[in-house]
Amino acid sequence: MMSPVEFFRTLPKKECPECGQHMDEQAESYLMECDRCLAKRDE
Ligand SMILES: [Zn+2]
Repeated sequence: MMSPVEFFRTLPKKECPECGQHMDEQAESYLMECDRCLAKRDE
């Protein structure tokens, strides 16, 4: 069985579907887009 640490390490890097930019893990996990694309969407 995988330890939780191993499990999270094997997760794919989070990537913005809009621009493909890698996002920090600490970003709100429920958001799909990066800050830049979210800001654009707000306009
Ligand atoms: Zn983006």
